[in-house]
Amino acid sequence: MDVEKKISKKIRFGTCTKDCYGSCVFLGEWSDNAPEYKLISAVPLKNHPFTQGFFCQKLNRRQDLIYHPKRLKKPLIRTEPKGKNSFNSIHLKEALNIVAEKLKDVKKKYSSTAILAAYFAGNSGLISMYSPLRFFGKLGATVTSGGICNEGGCAGLSKLFGTYSTTNPFQLINKNARLIVVWGSNLSETNIHAYLLVKKALRDNAILVVVDSRRTRIAEDAHIFLQPYPGTEHLLSKLILYQLITQYAYDESFLKEYVDGYNSIISEAIQVDEKKILSQIGVDSQTLHDFINLLIELKHHTIFNIGYGVQKDFYGGRIVKAITLIQILLGNFGKPGTGLIYSQSDFNKAFLRPLLDYITKITPESLIKKIPIIKLGSALDSGDYKMLFIYNFNPASSLPNQNQVRKALSQNDIFIVMQDQFLNETTKYADIVIPAKFDVESHDLVSPYYIPGLSINQAGPCPYPDCMSNYEFFQKLAYKIGWENSPTFQDTDELILQGCLNLLPIKIREDIRIKGYHILFEKNYVPFKNLYFPTPNGRIQAHGPHFEFGKQELERRLNRNKNEFLLITPSHVYFLHSQLGQIHPRYLEVFHKIFLNQDDINALDLKVGNEVKVSNEYGSSKYIISESKVVKPGVALIFSGTPFPFSGNSNVNLFTPDRPEELGLSGAYNSALIKIYKIISNNK
Ligand code: SF4
Repeated sequence: MDVEKKISKKIRFGTCTKDCYGSCVFLGEWSDNAPEYKLISAVPLKNHPFTQGFFCQKLNRRQDLIYHPKRLKKPLIRTEPKGKNSFNSIHLKEALNIVAEKLKDVKKKYSSTAILAAYFAGNSGLISMYSPLRFFGKLGATVTSGGICNEGGCAGLSKLFGTYSTTNPFQLINKNARLIVVWGSNLSETNIHAYLLVKKALRDNAILVVVDSRRTRIAEDAHIFLQPYPGTEHLLSKLILYQLITQYAYDESFLKEYVDGYNSIISEAIQVDEKKILSQIGVDSQTLHDFINLLIELKHHTIFNIGYGVQKDFYGGRIVKAITLIQILLGNFGKPGTGLIYSQSDFNKAFLRPLLDYITKITPESLIKKIPIIKLGSALDSGDYKMLFIYNFNPASSLPNQNQVRKALSQNDIFIVMQDQFLNETTKYADIVIPAKFDVESHDLVSPYYIPGLSINQAGPCPYPDCMSNYEFFQKLAYKIGWENSPTFQDTDELILQGCLNLLPIKIREDIRIKGYHILFEKNYVPFKNLYFPTPNGRIQAHGPHFEFGKQELERRLNRNKNEFLLITPSHVYFLHSQLGQIHPRYLEVFHKIFLNQDDINALDLKVGNEVKVSNEYGSSKYIISESKVVKPGVALIFSGTPFPFSGNSNVNLFTPDRPEELGLSGAYNSALIKIYKIISNNK
């Protein structure tokens, strides 16, 4: 019996495709013949220099999610008006017929562009995200473009360097990195593998400075912690630049040789009113000067790691750019253990373009029409769209200005088809729901954005016959609408994966075959060592103005009323924004809470546990007051888009603005102001 069991087990490489810094690579042990629980274990690779043999606590039992009793196993059709998860199961054939007929009808009555596809990175596998574009490209449909996450910062950095990826994150543990500045990045919860690198550097006597509007756990490890108000980081940067300039601590020869427009930094940053800015940013002078002294003392030995939260602002790209000027002024690029870590995905473009062309079979530019994903709500409101496909995305939880998004999704003349593994906030508006496969059940490649490279998902069997990968669904739909002979839809997922592998350089292909992954950098590799960047003349482009933005918004924030708060919306340690509710239900309550500093709770004459009304120009809802030591007075925290399909109305994105970040059109989630009102009970 034991021998039989052993023989039936299969080992496959897998990669976690959650939209996460980790992209953890693992070995899956499968029992292909088991009736249901086919994935027996997923063991994170010890030899992967970033995965380092462990998963995060969000997903260290991924089988519980894959075989969860609430997983969707059959297609569903709506039985009650939109706004509720009320469905009946139907046969796959019937579901495909309904979707195909509707699609043909919309195309005939309106046009192909009235069919809109909205997708994001809920499954960040390349084939999962992009292969449906084969279908939408051939159809001439409209698709969403851009993202809701880090695009503002990427755009800001690209203005300086011609790319947003300039540093190898393994440089955190380079012996030359004596000062690590973690700016707005909650590594200890959202990037625990990088946190481990920082811990190692600290054991080797590096110094850590944490700058964050929240006192996150990594702040406890820091030698210096600065807690500016959200949205004021560029002013903090300006003060630091001012001190570096007045103390002649900048690297003049670096600036002259490699930086165009550096005089604009000097001329702008010299005009500061230190006292005024200190009160605006909420940082004390001594702490700031301790930080500046370290920057000066450890010039050419300092590395920055910037998180995505700081750029979830109307001017996020410019904020990231302003922070980066500190590293430029100090000449902290091109040397071991220096630079700026943000997103490294731009390094992947060297091998990615041919893969994406092959997966989509079209260049994305040749699609007829694109709309920014952040504007999905207003696009649907326009009346231009009559059919909406949604995959890898939960817009009724994740997009800002939820009232607008949900109203737009409620329109009865927009037929909505959604693929997902579970019912969620968005399926409440779907007409048809198609059960989706998990990443481990689909052939795919993953291109990580923190440690650049590529890794694989070798699909294991899915026990539920109607569950499909995104590609499988659109392939079936293509056949239904008469494209069964089209060469575009003859491949299987596995053949697409093989085609991609064939397009890769031999070294990458072999690494993936043997180890399951390829990493672009050796640990000691220093990118841009020659300081020649992909700008038109190879030099860093630091032309100003650098700080002429956001004055009106700052005034509004500074002059807010006593019951008004700056809202921050981080993800919870056990969730990836609107995902993973099924395996962490014990944290449901946290999404009904608003967290304030105890001083603010007292000032509002409230007590922990009181119910309050929270509102702003976008929406209104009730929350329970909770105390938090991580936020400073004036700041309120509600965790980001709920992972639970609530019947109530608790979702922080009721209050977040749909006005996008100006450079990258990503979400300005941390730009909202909210008012908190005490609810007076009628019984009193
Ligand atoms: S969510 Fe992120 S850290 Fe957790 S297992 Fe997946 S990739 Fe790794």
